[in-house]
Order: sequence, then structure tokens, then C-alpha cells
Amino acid sequence: MFPIAPNRKPIVLIVDDTPMNIEILSKILSKEYEIKIATRGEKALEIARSQVPPDLILLDIMMPGMDGYEVCVQLKGNPDTAEIPVIFVTAKSNVEDETKGFSVGAVDYITKPFHFPIVQARIQTHLRLSRQSRLLEEYAFIDSLTHIPNRRRFDAVYEEEWRRALRNTTPLCLCMIDIDYFKKYNDTLGHGEGDVCLQKVAAAIVNSSARGGELAARYGGEEFIVLLPHCDEATLAQSAENIRRAVEALHIAHPASEVSSVVTVSIGCAITNPSDRALDRDGLLKRADNALYAAKNGGRNRTAIG
Ligand code: GH3
Ligand code: MG
Ligand code: MG
Repeated sequence: MFPIAPNRKPIVLIVDDTPMNIEILSKILSKEYEIKIATRGEKALEIARSQVPPDLILLDIMMPGMDGYEVCVQLKGNPDTAEIPVIFVTAKSNVEDETKGFSVGAVDYITKPFHFPIVQARIQTHLRLSRQSRLLEEYAFIDSLTHIPNRRRFDAVYEEEWRRALRNTTPLCLCMIDIDYFKKYNDTLGHGEGDVCLQKVAAAIVNSSARGGELAARYGGEEFIVLLPHCDEATLAQSAENIRRAVEALHIAHPASEVSSVVTVSIGCAITNPSDRALDRDGLLKRADNALYAAKNGGRNRTAIG
């Protein structure tokens, strides 16, 4: 998944070993698109993997060294570049070549000599489709009420960070956060106010866990979770306390709470070194959940480390 930047010109990478072909295409396309060029497959891959990847690639097939099919295979085999739409623009016009183009993952196939309005229409179509699917993918990972990452997003990042921690032999921490007496909040102030409260608490948690690499997500109804990669126990305790204070400092009146006059949270934390193999991913979640239970039993509006 790469970020969406709708306010800039889409970037089109033209890959062709004949500079004349690149010139013709880029001359007409440069009004609407930012053009990048490569005359070799290796260079095309380098540009595609760069910090600002192209939004679409026009790819020639016959090139010395790495041909267009091989470039496409490599692009599709790398998660960082697999989603970039590839259109073959080629003199190879027989059915077998075209079929092979689609089988290696291209979204379209244009034969030379081409009619420019058709090239332009196809580029527009594929840019629109790819932008729409990226938007859909992003929405699928965002909680609709609080607009912060949802549990599906957490699960994906947790798995990724677990593997990274295994590789790097670094620790991984979790904070499980639950609003205190939230049922009573809804019962006294109404479900609508409850929703507003969840939005404010979510924003406070996200803002107070903004250290590089941390991820805060809505885990369930009134439960949130924060993932803290490469973090020691002292930093974990401090981070959890910062989150607890940030929610308290919102000063959201909670007349029915038995622990405070304002909305508070209880937080359960857990830390492990995945490379020790003492716990698996579910085990660490369970440990954080047990710590949360202890924080609740200990009186609420507090943090506990499991
Ligand atoms: P505790 O201090 O032990 O955590 O008590 P609690 O009342 O917070 O816990 P409980 O699990 O009994 O209640 C959770 C409440 O959260 C019940 C449910 O109606 C409410 N809730 C869950 N999701 C939402 C939501 O999206 N909006 C609103 N307004 N309320 C929600
Ligand atoms: Mg709960
Ligand atoms: Mg609760």
C-alpha cells in the first residue's frame, strides 16, 4: 500500500530502449503527467522502487538485457511495486505476445504504431481504477467512527512487526486500553454522546502514542490497542501512563463513573522478545489482556504491566 496524493500530477514512467519513442510519448503526455524515463529494465525497476514511485508504467517489451516481460514479473513479485499498473506499449502484435503480457500481470496492452487518443484514454482509465482501489484498501483499514486504524490494520501491522522483531531480536510491547464504566456513560448520557466520547478518546490515544513506529488502533467497542516496537519496560510504563493522563486531561464529564468525575481508562501492558520464543502473538495479547483485568480489579484509572 502506498500513500495517496491526489493533488499532484500523476507520475508516468516510460520505459523504452529507443529514445525516439520516449520522446514522442513524453512530449504529448507531459502536459497532464509528470514523466520519468528509463531506457533499460534495471533502471525502470530502480525508479519503481524509489521513494516516489510512478503511478503507472508504460513498458516496452523488446529491450536489450532485461526485457519488458521480466521487468513486469519483478515488479509484480515485489509487494512495494506490485500495485503499480503496467501497460505494455510494443511493436509485438501477435496474440501470444499479448496473452503473455497479461499473464505476467499487465493491465493493458497497446501495439505500435499507436493512436495517441487511445493511449491517453487507457492511461486515464487505469490511473482512475488504481486510485479507486487504493482508496478502498485504505478505507478498509480505518475505523468508521473514530477514523483511526481498525483491528484489521492492527492485526496486519502486528504480524509484520512480530516478524521484524524476530529478525532483529528486538522487543515488542502492547498496551490494551479500555474506557472505565463506559456502559454507565452511555446509560446516563446516551449512545450519541458515547460515540463522541469514543472519538475524543481515540484522538487522544493516537496523539500521545506518536513515537516513530507506534501504532494505535480501535480494537473493539470501547477498547483500543497500542503496539510499541523496540521499546523497553521503563518506556512502556511511561508511554502507558502518558496515554492514561492524556485521556484524563480531556476532562470529559462522566457523572456516573465510580472512579473519577471525568472519563478515564485502564491500561494493561505486556512486553516480550519474540526471539525468546516464550510467547507467541496470541500469548502477548493474552498477557496484555490479563494486565488490563488487573488494572480494572486494582481500582481502574491506572496502568498495569503483565
Ligand atoms: P469497565 O470499567 O469494567 O470497563 O466497565 P464498562 O461499562 O466500560 O464495560 P462493559 O464492557 O460492561 O461496557 C462496554 C460498553 O461499551 C457497552 C457498550 O454499549 C459500549 N460500546 C461499545 N461500542 C460502542 C460504540 O461504538 N458506541 C457507543 N456509544 N458505545 C459503545
Ligand atoms: Mg470493554
Ligand atoms: Mg470498559
